[in-house]
Amino acid sequence: MRGAIKFQCILDCSNVCCGGATIITLKELGKLYRFFPITLGFSKIYPLNSIHRKYIEDFSFRYKSFYIIGDFIAGNRLNKKCRLLKNYLCSIHGSLKPLQCHIIPFSVTFPEALQNFVIAERRRTAFKECKGFNESSPVIWNGEFTDEKLREKFYILRNNLIEQRDMMNRFFLKFENHIAFRKFIDKESGFLEVPIVEDFIDELCEIALIDDIGDFLKSQRSLFIKELTVGGIKNSLFVDALNAIDRFKSLISKI
Ligand code: SF4
Ligand code: SF4
Repeated sequence: MRGAIKFQCILDCSNVCCGGATIITLKELGKLYRFFPITLGFSKIYPLNSIHRKYIEDFSFRYKSFYIIGDFIAGNRLNKKCRLLKNYLCSIHGSLKPLQCHIIPFSVTFPEALQNFVIAERRRTAFKECKGFNESSPVIWNGEFTDEKLREKFYILRNNLIEQRDMMNRFFLKFENHIAFRKFIDKESGFLEVPIVEDFIDELCEIALIDDIGDFLKSQRSLFIKELTVGGIKNSLFVDALNAIDRFKSLISKI
């Protein structure tokens, strides 16, 4: 028998869950590229059971024996706090807020019916300090989501991942000869984060309906520079991202 999940977000503790980077999808790129430096992220998912396996097959792709999910990483993983967190509060609201932030602490990588596994694991680890779970909070999951808005965002996010799956698979293979790629594949778990290289920029802007590529490049360049060094450490991924932007600019200037 599954226990109900009682949860209500307590706004003043966002520093627990609003880390340096959040996940976004291709469909969100157009509205968020002016707020975050954006890279590509890939992670492995291990199905819990046959129901979970069937569920992830819709939005993940196979590489060797792994199921891989690809998305966009908005922000800087070296930072402890999201760049949009101001005085412990998120500074973007409504439809601008990333879908992932709307569904936290749940995870779209598990079916709705298995979200109790997600919460049990998160309460043991990353969300240990989260104050949102308590007896006086409303039930928001009871074998299924009881909060309609949460359910809606969850399925929009899932559909976005399904729609971008094949493109992410192609992008992933592009990095096959990189050392970081091989390390990622050799490890049991882990995460591969790579820049949006020049070969993808045109296509991404077109699919994400970003008409002004110049504005995309300018905004991203400025954000990568702003976030380049954190605590005295230079983010080498952002150096690569800046180089990719410069190579793209030089390519289009020759056309
Ligand atoms: S999800 Fe938890 S940690 Fe994050 S703001 Fe809400 S209550 Fe706080
Ligand atoms: S966008 Fe807002 S809700 Fe999302 S991680 Fe950043 S501060 Fe938190």
